[in-house]
Amino acid sequence: MLDGPRSLRPASAHPFSRALILAIVALAALWLPAMARAVPLKIGGSLCHATKSAALPIDAPPPRAYSCTGEPRDYQDRALWLHAETAALGLPPRGVSLMLHHTRFDRMTVFFTYADGRVVRQGVTRGDYGTFWRIGGHLRFDAPLRDAALTDVTMRFDHLASHTLVRGRIVPTAPIGTELALVAGLVGGALTLLLAGAIYNLCLSIAARRQFLLWHSLWATTVFVWGTLWSQFALWVVPGVAGTTAAQTSTFLAVLAIALATMSGATAIRRGVLPRWLHIGLFALAGANALLGLSVAFTNAPISVVGLLLEVFSLADIAAVVLAIVIGWRRGSQEARDLAYAWAVPMAVLTFTMFFDFRDSLFGGGSQIMVLFASALQTVWLSIGQTRRLARLRVERDAARAAELELSELAARDPLTGLLNRRGFLARAEAMWATADPARGHIALLLIDADEFKAINDRFGHETGDTVLVTLARCLSGMEDARTIVGRLGGEEFMIGVAERDAPAIRALAERARALLGACDHGPVTARRPVTVSIGVAEGHRATGFQKLYGMADRALYDAKRLGRNRVMIFGQANAQAEIEFARDQLAFDFAG
Ligand code: GH3
Ligand code: MG
Ligand code: MG
Repeated sequence: MLDGPRSLRPASAHPFSRALILAIVALAALWLPAMARAVPLKIGGSLCHATKSAALPIDAPPPRAYSCTGEPRDYQDRALWLHAETAALGLPPRGVSLMLHHTRFDRMTVFFTYADGRVVRQGVTRGDYGTFWRIGGHLRFDAPLRDAALTDVTMRFDHLASHTLVRGRIVPTAPIGTELALVAGLVGGALTLLLAGAIYNLCLSIAARRQFLLWHSLWATTVFVWGTLWSQFALWVVPGVAGTTAAQTSTFLAVLAIALATMSGATAIRRGVLPRWLHIGLFALAGANALLGLSVAFTNAPISVVGLLLEVFSLADIAAVVLAIVIGWRRGSQEARDLAYAWAVPMAVLTFTMFFDFRDSLFGGGSQIMVLFASALQTVWLSIGQTRRLARLRVERDAARAAELELSELAARDPLTGLLNRRGFLARAEAMWATADPARGHIALLLIDADEFKAINDRFGHETGDTVLVTLARCLSGMEDARTIVGRLGGEEFMIGVAERDAPAIRALAERARALLGACDHGPVTARRPVTVSIGVAEGHRATGFQKLYGMADRALYDAKRLGRNRVMIFGQANAQAEIEFARDQLAFDFAG
């Protein structure tokens, strides 16, 4: 399984698994008829073998003697010949094709031998597959239709990396076109899904700032590139990679995909849930796999040795991720559960490909095509799961924000009148004052106190007193604008905060507030008796601060009360004005007297 990624990645919601299983069963049902018609090539079974020098000219006729038992040896630097007799395979004498999976060789030539002794030769070389390559990883060689019957099919491989990599079938030519179109459609669809999944998960990883989604996106990208190389879609764009280059690169990508899937799995579970040694172990295994993949793909290290090492490391990788899931699950991690559900089906597919020989089945695509489809479905599955999870989180977040807003609004409001309470007023006024432009005027605090309110309570009852306070608040709230904030300080006291107004405007505003509240209609509850207010005004600038303004306004209010109520007093002008008013009252008294 060198050429296939056994990579698995996290997802959530398990109901998708049913759809996935159904899709796999449906695909398997499609494969079965195709499998029934094909004769798989098997060295030591349907194929006999011979090894000759690679120096033989390309048009040299096939050898006459073959060994039909045992395994071929020492062919890597020579030419390996594989031979089959059509009659022995039960194939029709006309209208057959050789479907060979592309792999690592320098040159491959097929010889179709007819009953009249004529031999027709077709072939490809590394980097030039001509018109013989097909989507789905195949090379297709059609035996030309002749009067004479086809008797032998012989293949010559120059510098083949390993005979275990040779996979192929001899099939009736007629239905192969339909089959290839179907494979191209399915592989194209799977690759499209993988690419879409890669882009989508990249966007999600940026939007949700989740590292594991980035690893997953890289994984999907890797499987996508692997799939284009393995299936030979890439040859449309880069025909020169045909053969060994594509096979080596796809081996590396397959191993890289395992490493990336491990990283995705390792980062999906929240920090602190897994023991540190396991985290480090997962990263180390992912790194070791990637390095081994490089050496298998691009060096001359013997495939049998490094390949075995790679299998061991891949299994260790998978075991470590399974361990992470088990530990995470037992420690109550939701991500671990999601990973487990996401792994269940692809794991089954992988186990399947490990224990059953799919070499020549599934349209000749073997386990690779199965892994490709499982990966595509897995990406879709994960993407849907993640979208659902994010949508749920978003709804929860919006609800939490709304509740928070409501709470903070509630905490800032006075329950009786609905005006800002002292806390809410202070927060807004200070924010307004802090940003006020000194060039456009002063800031000010107006302290408003209902006159002889106790008498209203005493005469009409506390409940009526409350109604009066609510009415006063409603009248006062009409004054609110971008530079005017009103609030209830407590009891029968209210406040107005203003900004960016000059002294005459502040005074006019205070006078307007007094008149407005005095004229406020309390209706029959107070027997239409007006309720007047006294106002103390403190002016300042940005640096004055609430406490100081409050102290000054309180002093001015005290003066307003002292001088007879129902009036506005400005701090700092209290004495002067008090004298004037006293004189005026005195005068009125004298006249009256
Ligand atoms: P002054 O003109 O000097 O301000 O006289 P006053 O009676 O308004 O002042 P005082 O401080 O003596 O009395 C305030 C009264 O306001 C006392 C209290 O019963 C009443 N009061 C405070 N809070 C509330 C409230 O929430 N509802 C009602 N109904 N009355 C309240
Ligand atoms: Mg009071
Ligand atoms: Mg009062």
